[in-house]
Amino acid sequence: MKDYLVRAVAKNESIRIVAVTSTGVVEEARKRHGTSPVASAALGRTLTAGLILSTEIKGEDLLTIRILGDGPLGAIVVTADGKHRVRGYVQNPSVYLPIDKNGKLPVGKAVGKGVLHVSKDLGLKEPFVGTCELVSGEIAEDIVYYLYRSEQIPSAVAMGVLIGKDGHIRSAGGILVQILGDADEETREKLSERFSRLEGISSLIDKGYKPEDLIKELKIDFEILDRHPVAFECKCTKEKVEETIASLGSDEIESIIAEKGEAEVNCHFCGEKYILKQEELKKLIMDIKNSYDE
Ligand code: ZN
Repeated sequence: MKDYLVRAVAKNESIRIVAVTSTGVVEEARKRHGTSPVASAALGRTLTAGLILSTEIKGEDLLTIRILGDGPLGAIVVTADGKHRVRGYVQNPSVYLPIDKNGKLPVGKAVGKGVLHVSKDLGLKEPFVGTCELVSGEIAEDIVYYLYRSEQIPSAVAMGVLIGKDGHIRSAGGILVQILGDADEETREKLSERFSRLEGISSLIDKGYKPEDLIKELKIDFEILDRHPVAFECKCTKEKVEETIASLGSDEIESIIAEKGEAEVNCHFCGEKYILKQEELKKLIMDIKNSYDE
């Protein structure tokens, strides 16, 4: 079943809900980066958060989440655009930590203490940037704290990644509920009580739950606004790699040719490997020289 995202509202639009399944997205990231179970869980939750927050932007606008913790995983970076295409990486994908005494992967320990940055490039001169401290490194709590601190919106977020014995991703997804303005106290209490039961969200998705089914678990009348497919998709191209290498200047490219014969560039975000052969590097040098002559 393909991953997708659902936006919904309830109680005269005073409650905003986003639910998403991201099993295929997280599995694609795992395959590309060779992530260990704890790295898959941390990156998978951050990719899912990127998809949820991508409902706040439009079209080609870009949202970036940076989780900079002092734990063994190092930085986690995810970008998502308004068309719900997400990509991301974790600095140390092969870090292995065993499951804790509750049978859970110790994501908080692997992430550590540090900060969460969210930037939204909306095509204006300056991007919108929000920063807050990591609360637990478990990602969902950190996103909730960020939304409260930076955007003053009380939110509840549940996210989960279920990993099979062989390391493959069995299921992944998340749900966000935001109470805007004047929802009554009873509604708030009921919602938070039902939300707390959504802890095992990845188990529900593993059983075949779709985003709509996750929303139904809140037991509240809701109206679906729209559905969107989501995907792991990178923006890197060979042209962009050539531009980066050309920016090193002709002397630097000459020395790459002398030392290695060709250039190999790996995209951080998706792990794609680009090789520029000697003739291609020489052509870049020619182009640089020609641009001086013009
Ligand atoms: Zn890439």
